[in-house]
Amino acid sequence: MTATMAAHDHGVRAEAARRRTFAVISHPDAGKSTLTEALALHASAITEAGAVHGKGDRRGVTSDWLAMERERGISITSAALRFEYAGMVFNLLDTPGHADFSEDTYRVLAAVDGVVMLLDAAKGLEPQTLKLFDVCRHRRLPVITFVNKWDRPGREPLELLDEIEQRIGLRPTPLTWPVGVAGDFHGVLDRRRGGFVRYTRTPGGATRAAEQLVSAEQAEAEHDTAFAVAREELDLVAATCGDFDPDSYAAGASTPVLFGAALPNFGVRQLLDTVVELAPAPAPRPDAAGATRRLDAPFAGLVFKVQANMDPAHRDRIAFVRVCSGRFERGMVVTHSATGRPFATKYAQQIFGQDRAVLDTAFPGDIVGLVNAGSLRVGDALYDGPAVRYPPIPSFAPEHFATVTARDSSRYKQFRRGVEQLDSEGVVQVLRSEQRGDHAPVLAAVGPMQFEVATHRLEHEFRAPVRLDRLGFSLARATDVAGAEALRTTSDVEVFTRGDGALLALFPTKWRLLSLQRHHPDIRLDPLVAGT
Ligand code: GDP
Repeated sequence: MTATMAAHDHGVRAEAARRRTFAVISHPDAGKSTLTEALALHASAITEAGAVHGKGDRRGVTSDWLAMERERGISITSAALRFEYAGMVFNLLDTPGHADFSEDTYRVLAAVDGVVMLLDAAKGLEPQTLKLFDVCRHRRLPVITFVNKWDRPGREPLELLDEIEQRIGLRPTPLTWPVGVAGDFHGVLDRRRGGFVRYTRTPGGATRAAEQLVSAEQAEAEHDTAFAVAREELDLVAATCGDFDPDSYAAGASTPVLFGAALPNFGVRQLLDTVVELAPAPAPRPDAAGATRRLDAPFAGLVFKVQANMDPAHRDRIAFVRVCSGRFERGMVVTHSATGRPFATKYAQQIFGQDRAVLDTAFPGDIVGLVNAGSLRVGDALYDGPAVRYPPIPSFAPEHFATVTARDSSRYKQFRRGVEQLDSEGVVQVLRSEQRGDHAPVLAAVGPMQFEVATHRLEHEFRAPVRLDRLGFSLARATDVAGAEALRTTSDVEVFTRGDGALLALFPTKWRLLSLQRHHPDIRLDPLVAGT
């Protein structure tokens, strides 16, 4: 396609309008995998629940992760599940469940237009949800809340809403209201359409849940007290929370709430319909200079995730690109923002877990997996026509630090290549300093599990067994050249250079940092992350 044609590609806007690109954020075990399966099942993207993840019985997260890593499973791969429903194309991005991988989540959330916040009815807001929600707030992503596991004993619905409002400051506006307490779930009142949607359990939840729209009179007769209680609660909710408000939802100030149970597929259809109706379609994305590129401008996309060797049969490297503008066609030669060089997209794929399919055309909101993407890094742009650069994706401040050295000096070359690879994928941040030299770079992580992943991959993927020595630092601040010079003579503080050129000063404790700031207010020491 020529640039002139691309510039007038009105089909792109229509295609973008029918995309819904989002992620589910939740605490581990709240039911994200189950919900993902249920959503896809309703949309008939897969034939039987369980076919997407097949993770069966989950054990400890660490061993789970490493087993998954060996199997190249999806929990570690922030890939996208794509399915069609009601004339819409859903791109559901996977986020890692464990807090130690919140860095990955930042990247995934840079590629979506909205999120579904999934809560366990018995637990409410859990630590990981809070942390992830902070990222959503930072990006001003609109949030739809799904209260899951209503088929099991849980908390009072009003108490859960109150918790959302009090703890994260989001005004909840329920779209449905449960009939029957958690553990004795009959169905939901549909506030917007009116009426009562009754659920009937189907064996194993592996087929669509039977749901039936029932009139108020009939429901009252059948469920008497539960129904009456739900109606009363709903009146109270209507008076305190108000109705769904599109503007405050879009601004990230209120959240529509749905009640359901992913396992028996209760309330999942309502969630799909809500995403179709309320979740935002892709909008023009601001570039680093704050300008926006029209959706129907020539192709531009953001690399938000780089993953190596997902499939042992293809020892390759995949870059996941979110299409931000224009029409992507496999085989087109685009420009790589970081180098200005051409990049051929012959090997474009749509990837979810182990499944790959060749992707020929993609539109704003879609996720493209580019194979053999050795030169691409997270945050890079690819474009056709006028150049574009996107604002950098923020990263979490590391809190764990360790030196890494090759145990076998004859494998030093592989060791270096491996460390370089982990750095470019963002598995860990790699810090270097003249004093410590190239043989013992420092790995910096948000959570210690990242070290396990790094060690495991260096050993198995690069055949470079390593030794890890934890360092006694617990926090990092960004400094400048003058600050680095001033800190050189300070005991128990060390300054390192990160891969992106940033100078990081590491401190053993918060008190050490505070005392240094008190005595040397002139030294620049900035927190690393905005918004968390
Ligand atoms: P994830 O860690 O968030 O991906 O959670 P999973 O989807 O693996 O679910 C964790 C556990 O909760 C599993 O045993 C699921 O079968 C169970 N689960 C998920 N959703 C529901 C639900 O709606 N009701 C009930 N009773 N159990 C559920």
